Amino acid sequence: MLKKFERYPLTFGPTPIEKLDRLSEYLGGKVVIYAKREDCNSGLAFGGNKLRKLEYIIPDAIASDADTLVSIGGVQSNHTRMVAAVAAKIGMKCLLVQESWVPYEDAVYDRVGNILLSRILGAEVRLVDEGFDIGIRRSWEQALDDVKQRGGRPYAIPAGASVHKYGGLGYVGFAEEVRAQEKQLGFAFDYIVVCTVTGSTQAGMVVGFAKDGRQRNVIGIDASATPLQAKSQVLNIAQHTAKLVELGKEIAHDDVVLLADYAHPRYGIPSEQTKEAIRLCARLEGIMTDPVYEGKSMQGMIDLVSKGFFPDGSRVLFAHLGGVPAINGYSDTFRNG
Ligand code: PLP
Repeated sequence: MLKKFERYPLTFGPTPIEKLDRLSEYLGGKVVIYAKREDCNSGLAFGGNKLRKLEYIIPDAIASDADTLVSIGGVQSNHTRMVAAVAAKIGMKCLLVQESWVPYEDAVYDRVGNILLSRILGAEVRLVDEGFDIGIRRSWEQALDDVKQRGGRPYAIPAGASVHKYGGLGYVGFAEEVRAQEKQLGFAFDYIVVCTVTGSTQAGMVVGFAKDGRQRNVIGIDASATPLQAKSQVLNIAQHTAKLVELGKEIAHDDVVLLADYAHPRYGIPSEQTKEAIRLCARLEGIMTDPVYEGKSMQGMIDLVSKGFFPDGSRVLFAHLGGVPAINGYSDTFRNG
């Protein structure tokens, strides 16, 4: 589906699929859980899901003759860290708008983890006092204007690399990669669990898995705590991407499954259940997840398995999208382990 699109390689290649025996067993052994390790996808500044998306966006940035990548996220945004790393890799400048998406208490929250890495990667980091919103922001438009004022040539990458004409392509590629891995494994996954905030990861998967009719088996776990907005963003990106790749099928509202039960109390703040899921996965499998994204989708998957959402015998693929650097901003949360 992606042959006609130019791709700038930023990842190592297909990500490994790992069986989580101890977690599956702990949860009753009726469902077999696997993880696709998107968190280990690249040597660029700890990797993660944004690189798959950026592989299809960067050729457009280079073709546009830009000299500065401009993007936006929260203070602990994984996405902006990835944009900073990619800018370094391709020899462009980088301006990042970091909004106050999370009301934090941790004394080092704005100095460690993702923002620390972005600073070391050479990005200009601009802290802005605006709350959480996945839409297009004034502060980002201002940053684009500022680059032009200085005589620079900005290239705009929206939050999460999502609302961009090519934002959905990377995760169409994920579905194609899973299909190829399924051939080698000799079975197909029954469900794919994915964390959703800005939407293009799930949207790409929905389009990619729609090819063999599995789009409703992509179970999105909302971590935005604004699920209606997130769902409509997933749907819009999926519909746009489906046309772009000439899927030949319409993506309908019900093709986007997004569960809203796990994002509480709000974006970026873990609940007790999120913290328990992070500890459980770490202690049974040695796999780290973070309090903002993957901890919440892990929590969701654990809860769904526990309550029998997946029929006995199902093979469930947890898409581990990265995000662990942010955990450094949560030292108080895990002070006692
Ligand atoms: N997981 C991690 C680690 C992320 O950084 C993000 C980014 O927002 C997501 C999940 C959600 O992906 P998306 O924004 O494409 O919905």
